[in-house]
Amino acid sequence: MVILRTENLCKTYGKNENAVQAVKNVNISIEKGEFVAIVGSSGSGKSTLMHMLGGVDRPTSGKVFVEDQDIYALNDDKLAIFRRRQVGLIYQFYNLIPVLNVEENITLPCELDHRTVEKEALDEMVKSMGLEAVRTHLPNELSGGQQQRVAIGRALITKPAILLADEPTGNLDTKNGNEIMELLKASNRKNKQTVIMITHNLDLAKQADRIIHIEDGMIRDGNDARMDENVAGMEESAAGTDENVTETDEAKA
Ligand code: ADP
Ligand code: MG
Repeated sequence: MVILRTENLCKTYGKNENAVQAVKNVNISIEKGEFVAIVGSSGSGKSTLMHMLGGVDRPTSGKVFVEDQDIYALNDDKLAIFRRRQVGLIYQFYNLIPVLNVEENITLPCELDHRTVEKEALDEMVKSMGLEAVRTHLPNELSGGQQQRVAIGRALITKPAILLADEPTGNLDTKNGNEIMELLKASNRKNKQTVIMITHNLDLAKQADRIIHIEDGMIRDGNDARMDENVAGMEESAAGTDENVTETDEAKA
């Protein structure tokens, strides 16, 4: 079953001589339960594409269908509800609310939707994210890896149709990055959670079911991530990017 599909998706920033065509005629189709990695050099249009897939940013032209709903045919209020219920978003810098503790950050999307989270569901989420010891801690009392695990819990608590992650391990060391990847994979396996993850980390990208390469706003191919030829091509193209080094020793774990 196709859960997400785009039709000639385009985004242009600015006008006339300042116009930047960030995404050009993207046609992709993603199955329910797929784990897709999006790979491309800095400025290739990855974040712009992700925001359009998640209902965050309206396209200049083209369409996005999520579960057969043309999401940009919705008015702003309905689009906001769609986003809150059907999309989980994870960013490189966690974007937690500093004055809310771990539990409050995780349940925030439900609160905003005037829905209460069952205690069992919250306990289960806290446990599966390995946050039991820090349930009432504030974000500034947590390590980077813990903060990202809170962000994943917050993204998954609504059981979204799609989980979108923009370089979720980009600010973490290898060990913490791998842990985040394992959590995303576990959610994908156990709950058939559809995951779309932007990454510069080739070791992580290779673990996805499929890699979508984006170059200059256009999709280059979308083959099986484990095809040798494909991976070799990716290593070559990533060698030319300045963001290839994603995991620094000084990154706070
Ligand atoms: P990536 O995530 O792959 O690094 P982005 O989607 O952030 O790429 O950016 C794609 C292109 O669009 C870049 O040339 C970038 O400078 C441009 N761009 C992104 N956001 C904006 C914006 N809000 N206004 C103008 N140009 C933008
Ligand atoms: Mg980006």
